[in-house]
Amino acid sequence: MNTDMTNKFKGRFGSFGGQYIAETLMPAMSEVENAFNIAWNEKSFHEELSFYLKEFVGRPSPLFYAERLTERLAGAKIYLKREDLNHTGAHKINNTMGQALLARRMNKTRLIAETGAGQHGVATATAAAIFGFTCDVFMGEEDMKRQEENVKRMYMLGAKIIPVHSGTKTLKDAMNEAMREWIATSQDTFYVIGSAAGPHPYPMIVREFQKIIGEETKQQIMEKENRLPDSVIACVGGGSNAIGIFTPFIQLKSVKLIGVEAAGLGINTDQHAASITGGKVGILHGSKTYLLQTEDGQICNAHSISAGLDYPGVGPEHSWLHDENRVQYVSITDEEAVNAFMELTRFQGIIPALESSHAIAHTMKIAPSLPNDHIIIVNVSGRGDKDMQSVNQYLGKK
Ligand SMILES: *Cc1c(COP(=O)(O)O)cnc(C)c1O
Repeated sequence: MNTDMTNKFKGRFGSFGGQYIAETLMPAMSEVENAFNIAWNEKSFHEELSFYLKEFVGRPSPLFYAERLTERLAGAKIYLKREDLNHTGAHKINNTMGQALLARRMNKTRLIAETGAGQHGVATATAAAIFGFTCDVFMGEEDMKRQEENVKRMYMLGAKIIPVHSGTKTLKDAMNEAMREWIATSQDTFYVIGSAAGPHPYPMIVREFQKIIGEETKQQIMEKENRLPDSVIACVGGGSNAIGIFTPFIQLKSVKLIGVEAAGLGINTDQHAASITGGKVGILHGSKTYLLQTEDGQICNAHSISAGLDYPGVGPEHSWLHDENRVQYVSITDEEAVNAFMELTRFQGIIPALESSHAIAHTMKIAPSLPNDHIIIVNVSGRGDKDMQSVNQYLGKK
C-alpha cells in the first residue's frame, strides 16, 4: 500500500495511528469521518442504534459473578462480562450494527468487509441481511479452508465471499484487497472494518461503537458491588473488545487495565501474534502501530490457536496506551489458553471463545495471589462453539 503521509496529524494517539493511505482513498475516508461525526451528535442516531442493540443483539449483556472459578482460584473475586451472549456469539456485532446504520444514513447500498476467522464476516453479513444491503466479504483462501463453518454461515446469510489469493492468503491480505476494492466502488459501497485498527477514522469509530461494553460494565459493577473494579482484563487481537471495555475506565486511575495478546507457541518463537509485547513500531493498513515484522520491514505471519487473535498488528490506541503505561500488555500461549478454555467450561458451564480464553488464562494466573476483596472483570468477548474442532485437535495432538 502507498504510504503517502496524507493528513499527517489526523487521528493520532500520541505518535500512533494516522492515515498512511493512498491519495485516492482520502475522499472515501473523509466521507465516512464526516458522516460519523454528524450521526454521533444526533439523538436520533443513538436512539436507532440503542433500539437494534437491545432488540436484535440482546444488550445489555450480563455481568456475571463467576462463583466457582473464584472459589477454585481462592483469591480475587471474578466477574465475567458476557459478550458471548450477543446475537452471533461475540462483541463484533456491536460494531457492524453501528457501521451498517451509518452506511444506511449515507445512502450506501453495499457493504464490504475483510475477515480472518470469519466472525466479523458473519457479523457484517448479519447486519447486511437485517438492513437489506448487498454484501461482499474478502477472505484469504487459507482462512476459507480453516473456517469452513463461518464461510457457510455467510453464504446462508446472503453474502458473497471473495477469495483472496495474494500474499499469505490470510487476514492482512484480505484487508488489502478490501481497501483496493473500496477505492473503486466507494460511491455506493461502505467498508465495514472489523477491529479498532486501520487508518483514521476507523480506530475511533470502532472504539465508539464498542465502548458500550465498558459503559454497561461500569454501571453493572456499581449496582452489584457499589464500587469500581480493581482490574479489567481483555484479550487483544486488533483490539476492539479490549478498547470497548477499557474506554470508560481509562480516566479512572485506580482501575488496572490489562490487555492479553496471543503468545502462540511462545513469545520467543516466530509463532505468535503478540504485536505489542513481541513486535516493533511500523506501518500496517494505513496506521502507525506496533506490529510483527522482519528486520527489513516485511510483515510477519502471525500465529495463534485462536483465529481471531491471528493478526500481525494492533489498533493504534493500544500502542499509545502501552507507551503511556496506562494499560499493561501481557501474553498467553496456546497451551495456557486451551487450559483456561477447559477450566471455564468445566467449572463455570461457559464455553468461551479461544480468543477470550487468553483473558481468562491471565486471570487464572494472577487471581490466586490477590486478596479476596480485589475485583477482576474479564471480558468474555465471544462463545466457543466455533472452536470445538481447534480444541479437540489440540488436545488430540497432546
Ligand atoms: C475477533 C475476535 C476477537 C479479536 O478481535 P478484537 O478486535 O481484538 O476484539 C476477540 N474475541 C472474539 C470472540 C472475536 O471474535
